[in-house]
Amino acid sequence: MNGEALNLLLESLPVAYRNSLLARLKPVSLPVRTVLYEPDEAPRYAHFVTSGIASIVSAMSTGASAEVGIWGSEGLVESFHLLGKAKIPTRCFIQMEATALRMPFKELQKEFQENDDLRDAVLQCVQSQGFILGQLAACNRLHEAEERLARWLLMVCDRVDSETYFLTQEFLGNMLGARRTTVTAAAGALQRKGLIKYSRGRIHITDSAGLEKAACECYKTVRSLYLNFYSAR
Ligand SMILES: [Zn+2]
Repeated sequence: MNGEALNLLLESLPVAYRNSLLARLKPVSLPVRTVLYEPDEAPRYAHFVTSGIASIVSAMSTGASAEVGIWGSEGLVESFHLLGKAKIPTRCFIQMEATALRMPFKELQKEFQENDDLRDAVLQCVQSQGFILGQLAACNRLHEAEERLARWLLMVCDRVDSETYFLTQEFLGNMLGARRTTVTAAAGALQRKGLIKYSRGRIHITDSAGLEKAACECYKTVRSLYLNFYSAR
């Protein structure tokens, strides 16, 4: 590490404290499908993502699952676990190859209890992420697959900072909580409009302004929360 945190939460901390924390964080590479935490279990590590994306997924007893949120380099993946003793029923895994800075969860928990700056930043992070999760819950209920897919592709694009990335259709289905045929139809519609190119899991956004118009209003709401994650501090 060259001292650049590359994580918005870490960057929002006062320099001296951030450097002391950075010295105790270990950089790790996280391949696709790496599980960061399982439902109802205390996480082993706390991860500050520095690149890539982790998905928060809710699974039903039928085996069906849907993405309820994503984490990129804006925050701390296990921030909700830090707040109290409640068991968290979601699962979190790496959806696009990621890097992170991590330390044992219990160590960060102690730090959270003892350091005001870290606690303020984590609370801010949870507040913003909480609003985003609420918005996405409403989105999944009220908006159509095509506009949700556009919204989701843009959210990923903002976090990976690239207009080309790889995603399998199975992943897309899980993310949208939709059947494979629905995802195929939605991706096909966006492609016919010249907004994306999708082939063998490779997604290329060819017209991001057009894709933004095709996305539901939730994209703008989430983006503004994302850009101002720590601005109130
Ligand atoms: Zn929406």
